[in-house]
Amino acid sequence: MRILLTMLVTLFLIGCDKAADQTGIATAEASKETFEWKLVTTWPKNYPGLGLAPENFAEKVEAMSGGRLKVKVFGAGQLVPAFEVFDAVSQGTAEMGHGASYYWTGKSKATAFFTSIPFGLNAQEMNGWLHYGGGLELWRELYNEFNLIPFAAGNTGVQMAGWFNREINSMEDIKGLKMRIPGLGGDVISRAGGVSVTISGGELYTAMQTGVIDALEWVSPYNDIAFGFHQVAKYYYYPGWHEPGPTLELIVNKDAYSELPEDLQAIVEVAARAVNQDMLDEYTARNNEALITLVETHGVQLRKLPDEVVTELRGIAAEMLEELSEDSDIARRIAESVKSFQRQATEYHKISEEAYYQARKEGDE
Ligand code: CA
Repeated sequence: MRILLTMLVTLFLIGCDKAADQTGIATAEASKETFEWKLVTTWPKNYPGLGLAPENFAEKVEAMSGGRLKVKVFGAGQLVPAFEVFDAVSQGTAEMGHGASYYWTGKSKATAFFTSIPFGLNAQEMNGWLHYGGGLELWRELYNEFNLIPFAAGNTGVQMAGWFNREINSMEDIKGLKMRIPGLGGDVISRAGGVSVTISGGELYTAMQTGVIDALEWVSPYNDIAFGFHQVAKYYYYPGWHEPGPTLELIVNKDAYSELPEDLQAIVEVAARAVNQDMLDEYTARNNEALITLVETHGVQLRKLPDEVVTELRGIAAEMLEELSEDSDIARRIAESVKSFQRQATEYHKISEEAYYQARKEGDE
């Protein structure tokens, strides 16, 4: 019996040794292979706020991979212009890109769903829909034909309605308004009689200063103060009906991604998820103070969009979404998925988030 036991233990130990050897070899081989990737962005290099997400991502990936995956960030115009990021990554000129999906509605109208939908999901809900409500699967299906894998990689939370050099008292004031507002929000403004313009972030200040545009939306106080929009605009309007929870994207060339060992693929995924949450945390912390500075130090005139205007815009947005959902089979499936998620989230949030905000406010009084 004792001999048998000794033999079994010996066999077990030999087995363990072999397993350890194999793991050791696999680890050693994996660690030899290094990758140097290019990441192109729609933001100028070292652009404050959301523009720092690509740098943040690259640092995390390099640290987590022990330098096996190095990501070099190229700002807008350094390797390719801002609005050529999608094509550059699709074709493999760069392995990765960072920007916003609604810049690519020229490729497929349905891309607009994955940044933000006017009167749609907020950041918390968007993250829920993407990661646990089927949103990310649909996004990946949509980008598959472009040889791209998308990841959520940044969220600013509810934005501001924007900077205006014209007071908005009724829908009449939207007529003829030249406003930088991309995506579906821009389509709503156009339908309301305005002129929506898509200008990349780096050109906004000058466009507003020289009167090329009458209004612009960028992000929210923390990010907007860095660009000095308060120096070129009179009024700062809220709420950001057009971008309640905008997601930024990391796009990865599919062929390049498939060449990565599994552990590096996991690192890319986890780093994107970390950057996605990190941005929201940063905006949540810094918008408060930035708003105080804008109002108290710079004398910014904070204005709420009239209820009548918000109601009208909401009606136009609903019509537009119906039409967009008829654009293609995938657009219909995305629209149905997001609408059903929003219906449920709205019901539950009435008795959770909304009820809590109300309860807290009552406590303040
Ligand atoms: Ca925006």
